[in-house]
Amino acid sequence: MDLKALIRDIPDFPKPGIMFRDITTLLRDSQGLTHVIDRLTHQCHSLDHKPDYIVGIESRGFIFAPALAYQLGAGFIPVRKKGKLPAQVHSIEYDLEYGTDTLEVHQDAVQEGARVMIVDDVIATGGTAKATSELLTRIGCDVVSFGFVVELRGLNGRSLLPDVPMVTLVEYD
Ligand code: IMP
Repeated sequence: MDLKALIRDIPDFPKPGIMFRDITTLLRDSQGLTHVIDRLTHQCHSLDHKPDYIVGIESRGFIFAPALAYQLGAGFIPVRKKGKLPAQVHSIEYDLEYGTDTLEVHQDAVQEGARVMIVDDVIATGGTAKATSELLTRIGCDVVSFGFVVELRGLNGRSLLPDVPMVTLVEYD
């Protein structure tokens, strides 16, 4: 299935000069959605890396991570924007193009040494995934892989990430 054909390109969003890859058109297509989850699952099985938890990054990571966790028999852990999680958290601040943002995870989300896979819809510069990986490493997780539906290869986000397997389904230059 041609997943790229189901992803809509929106020029100049959220800012002039940015080409936004809009996955809502993929999500609403029942075959496309099934295909994405099936292919992520298949690629994870072929890695044979058995994560204990799939970590989803707010907000579009929450669409894919729980479905993948269900398929792999793993748990789901949300990494959220500042101030959303109710219990004690660990936080990490990271740089955006303009300014900074903060991601948080519950301090007791996992046991020390848990094997986690980090999932988001898109990897662009890699800053969000890198910050998430550092946050999870800080609370004692072993980050065993990454998964993204879309990789914007020209930004070389993967170069920021630890040297573990990365699953992607659709690539743009
Ligand atoms: P990064 O930190 O530069 O890798 O940006 C990745 C984050 O921004 C992810 O959480 C994505 O959801 C979001 N993002 C960046 N570019 C796009 C895009 O073209 N489409 C959808 N989400 C995007």
